[in-house]
Amino acid sequence: MSAVLRIGARTDVGRVRAGNEDSLLVSDDGRLIVVADGMGGHQGGEVASATAVATLHAEVEAGRSVEDAVVAANRAVLERADGDPTLRGMGTTVTGGIVEGSSLRIAHVGDSRAYLLRDGALRQVTVDHSVVAELIAAGELTEEEALVDRRRSMITRALGIERDVVVDVVTVDLRGGDRLLLCSDGLTTMLRDPAIHGILADTTDPDAAAVALVDAANAAGGADNITVIVADVTVVEDTVAGDTVAEDRTPDDRHPTVTEAATPGDPTPEAAPRRRWWSRRAPS
Ligand code: MN
Repeated sequence: MSAVLRIGARTDVGRVRAGNEDSLLVSDDGRLIVVADGMGGHQGGEVASATAVATLHAEVEAGRSVEDAVVAANRAVLERADGDPTLRGMGTTVTGGIVEGSSLRIAHVGDSRAYLLRDGALRQVTVDHSVVAELIAAGELTEEEALVDRRRSMITRALGIERDVVVDVVTVDLRGGDRLLLCSDGLTTMLRDPAIHGILADTTDPDAAAVALVDAANAAGGADNITVIVADVTVVEDTVAGDTVAEDRTPDDRHPTVTEAATPGDPTPEAAPRRRWWSRRAPS
């Protein structure tokens, strides 16, 4: 069986920042979806996120796995910065998903998220590489406190910082009726999960849902660039003897099938000894 995505996507500067440092990609065949959130002075953030997205796309097109493509994107961002002093220190998050048969294989670094809406329940399927996420995991901060913590925009992993990057991989076994959301933190710092859930549940068309999410984030202040990709899943039988049948599955279990497939050397805290704080923007 194969999953087919019907996709709506938007990126928006928001209401506060002068430029948009986020980048997004939806490949023409609809199999690859990517969100990246850049950081760095001058044009650095824009260049970093655009370089990451373009490299990821090219590498996947060349047959590389999505996680190897993220590793290549890291090198590409570093090399671009090496060649231009004004870009030094730039970095970017990246969250990219590729349809492989009836699964979505997601590789991610940073705090741009992937969510899955299934059977009326919204669940975040990526784990943020951020200071507050680590503090929550350690029991030192509640989710509510994290929303207003001054460290909420500090991430612990990014592309463009070091030669080696630890990439998390999550595989989601897709079902007909699933809705996926990839987004930058400009959405999730403005809207809490229940608000995101409400918009996704109430807006049938994926393009309209993408617009509604951006509009809501702007209405809440639009403090950062906002990028969203909404992808609706149809699972079809692979064509046999010219016969393609759309499948209408009724999921019977309420828990999404999400498996964490660790890349070598990943991703327990013990396995990341050289992790360092990385602020996405200069302190204000
Ligand atoms: Mn951001």
